[in-house]
Amino acid sequence: MEQLLRRTWAEIDLDALEHNFQILQDRVGADTGVVGVVKADAYGHGALQTARTLEKLGAAYLAVSSLDEGRELRHSGITMPILILGHTPEEYVPQLLTYNMTQAITCEAKAVAYNEAAARCGGVLRCHIKVDTGMSRLGFLCAGRHFEEGVAGAAHACRMPHLDVEGIFTHFAVSDEPGTANEAFTRQQFDLFCRFVTALESRGCTFRFRHCANSGAVVNYPEMKLDMVRPGILLYGCGDGAEELGLRPVMSLKTTVSTIKVFDPDCTISYGRLYRTDRPTRTGVLPIGYADGFFRCLSNRCSVMTPDGPARVLGRICMDMCMIDLNDKPRVQVGSEVEIFGQHSRVDDLAALAGTIPYELTCAVSKRVPRVYLQGGEVVGTELRLYLE
Ligand SMILES: *Cc1c(COP(=O)(O)O)cnc(C)c1O
Repeated sequence: MEQLLRRTWAEIDLDALEHNFQILQDRVGADTGVVGVVKADAYGHGALQTARTLEKLGAAYLAVSSLDEGRELRHSGITMPILILGHTPEEYVPQLLTYNMTQAITCEAKAVAYNEAAARCGGVLRCHIKVDTGMSRLGFLCAGRHFEEGVAGAAHACRMPHLDVEGIFTHFAVSDEPGTANEAFTRQQFDLFCRFVTALESRGCTFRFRHCANSGAVVNYPEMKLDMVRPGILLYGCGDGAEELGLRPVMSLKTTVSTIKVFDPDCTISYGRLYRTDRPTRTGVLPIGYADGFFRCLSNRCSVMTPDGPARVLGRICMDMCMIDLNDKPRVQVGSEVEIFGQHSRVDDLAALAGTIPYELTCAVSKRVPRVYLQGGEVVGTELRLYLE
């Protein structure tokens, strides 16, 4: 931390990550594995440190979205199983084998292509079959009239000599959303998935890992845990249900006050002149803006947490800075720490104000924001993403 310019940084609380993992593992019980979803740089938290922590804690699997994300983890010494949720072009099968990746198989044609490519390398590619039960994204179609054809395609994949089909999974579209229609849809997806797996089993295909539960299902449908669950946002201590489960936010986005000025009444602040002072206004300038991940749409309508309580953002959030109201906050001085979201102000609330979900806010914390990893109250690592050498 000493070497970092204390401009703006994201604190990643590895104790909170451990706490959350343990709660989720306890919730599903020892017979169900937890897949740590670390795609998108672990939702902005830093895939490496997150993966290292989850490996140490005994997560069953890691999930990433692409081969490149998986390679980053392997290059950093992560040896535990890694599932690639997204598509990998068949030309990359040699790399999938080299890096010991588990690939999602999303249709029969791709199974054929992967099998042939693996045969050319003389290897066997570990796979999980992805079933599309209603997300309408990747996966073997199986709804309605597609059921038999889906089962036949997946059974074909299971018999391919250069594929080791170890698992099967599906993904829910509305498991995190309330209401009877959403509940009915989730149950329909789950039933379809179970029927699909049963049909395959009756054809002699068996799976070590059947999994479908994302965070929403871990919260709302614990009975759908099967062999593994795949929580992402819950691991990071946010999303619906996180508070109720006693999870703690892992990321705190922090900055410091760089300048304090007192503006006269009737003075407009920032681009667009959206905010006009109505009294002498003690104003702090924060070195954080939308290029750091503080969304411009929150301009003039959110608060940040200072040592003296919440302070309103005044006017437009700029690319690199924003201004806050420090009237009646005498304890806040130049250099005081300010939390944009995190332990004291939930990212979920800020996301709701921005009309989005917490995922988008943590993922948006940008490259110039160093990640500072904390464990037992001490800094155990810092990750600067700018090339300073
Ligand atoms: C991203 C993702 C998850 C995790 O989703 P959360 O809502 O963060 O729990 C699980 N499964 C798949 C296939 C995903 O793409």
